[in-house]
Amino acid sequence: MRFLSRRGAVFSAGTAAADSPARRFPLLRYFVATSVLVIGVVTALTGALFVRLADANFTDRTQSRSVAEAAHFAALFYYSVWLSSPSEGSEGSLHSVSPSSLETFAERTAFGLSIVQINFLDLDGTIVFSTDPGLIGTIPARETPPAVAHTGVPLASVERQQIVRDLAGALRSMDIVNTYVPLTDAPPDAPQEGSPYGILQMLQDVTLELALARSESLRVAVVGSATMAMVLFTLLFLLILRADRIIDGNHRRLVKQQEDLEVAQAQNIQSAKLAAIGQLVSGVAHELNNPLMAIGGLTELLADKASSRADSEDLRRIHMESQRAVRIVRNLLAFSHASRQEKTYVSINETVEAALDLRLYELSVKNIEAVVEMQPNLPWTLADAQEIQQLILNLCMNAEQALMESSGRAKKIWVKTEQAGEMIQITVRDNGPGIPDEVVGRVFDPFFTTKDVGSGTGLGLSICFGIVQNHGGTIRAENVRPTGARFVVELPIVSPASPEEGRPADESSVRSSPA
Ligand code: ADP
Repeated sequence: MRFLSRRGAVFSAGTAAADSPARRFPLLRYFVATSVLVIGVVTALTGALFVRLADANFTDRTQSRSVAEAAHFAALFYYSVWLSSPSEGSEGSLHSVSPSSLETFAERTAFGLSIVQINFLDLDGTIVFSTDPGLIGTIPARETPPAVAHTGVPLASVERQQIVRDLAGALRSMDIVNTYVPLTDAPPDAPQEGSPYGILQMLQDVTLELALARSESLRVAVVGSATMAMVLFTLLFLLILRADRIIDGNHRRLVKQQEDLEVAQAQNIQSAKLAAIGQLVSGVAHELNNPLMAIGGLTELLADKASSRADSEDLRRIHMESQRAVRIVRNLLAFSHASRQEKTYVSINETVEAALDLRLYELSVKNIEAVVEMQPNLPWTLADAQEIQQLILNLCMNAEQALMESSGRAKKIWVKTEQAGEMIQITVRDNGPGIPDEVVGRVFDPFFTTKDVGSGTGLGLSICFGIVQNHGGTIRAENVRPTGARFVVELPIVSPASPEEGRPADESSVRSSPA
């Protein structure tokens, strides 16, 4: 035999919608939000850093290349122009070279290599010849050309967004590399032996190259850092997801434990109250039972023998009232658990069905529709079938009475059985007026009733409570929206050890009786 039970009976107050568990920190949501933010910031910062590095790298590379190219041009100039100029062999000056020679040299050499301008400067920095005729005679930079001539070391610098007149004569804004190389009267393989007589300035357009270098490194930075961030994010996400599940499980367990604790506390109070009242009630009920039976029997006999009709009617009224008193006493005895329990393996569906059969006619007379929904193959439990029937009858009759007080909407009672975890759940719900909020926590108290004197004893639900408690289950009452009350009974699943011990499993049934 297997006992899967949660002991004790429960009563809960308030509406079902009010029973929401305590809120938990949404770890996963915060993780995703902060991760997206961090990934965005890291990717942007990495991109910016890579662009700076690309710029620096590009500048170094381009400057050295341009210096080499300009030095090559200087060598070409030495052999093709300087040696054949009239100043050859003497202390020369750029002014001794004919402008047409300079122009021819510039025109012949300034092809390819993105050259947009070639200038020849004298040692003072004055432009003697330029592919931009407007610059001839001007002094573009006062410091650099004399310094280059003095040290004999070529100089190149990358300059952004300069407005330059290109070889076609058009003014354009572009990124350039500006290179100065000294012109000396010694052969290019031994320049230190000669003396400088001018400076060759070369401007090259590197706008496209720079943009390409930047975009390439930006692409590498973004793809690289985003990929790394995504891999890291996925790993962390899986980790956090697992942690979140564990936290969630623990949180649910804690909430459940807290609820169970509250339920157990409430149950202890209720049980103590019931035990004290039950003891008192049981003694009184036993004492009252015999005299009431005697009064009932004798008044019935006397009524038959009464000499006048009036006496006979009075005696019959005494008989009826004593019968009512006997019924109340029986209820009291049931409440105080004085009755003997006979537990067997029962099918809750069959037991509920048997109880409903007793009420279906009455319900249809009262124009109440009963919707019955039973889970097929519901597990068995060990129970006193009579008591379970009484439990269902009490709940149904209360629902009926509540519905009779309401008007307007179609009257309905829902009875449902299902397995809920390790328990069998029986729900009886109606769409009556519901339980007044201020009394919902007291409905299981013995003798608590909101009905008029004579129509309610206030014992129905206390009896239900006692029955459920005797079966190791729980019962709770709650209001439902938009209107109505719901009673939820949970009984432990108790399966027989062998098939012979139990009875065949019941059939599935969902039925609805017409109102
Ligand atoms: P009685 O029916 O004799 O009043 P019960 O113990 O059965 O005693 O019920 C106690 C009280 O619980 C009722 O007086 C009523 O106020 C409330 N109650 C029980 N069932 C319902 C229901 N289905 N709808 C509204 N109120 C209910």
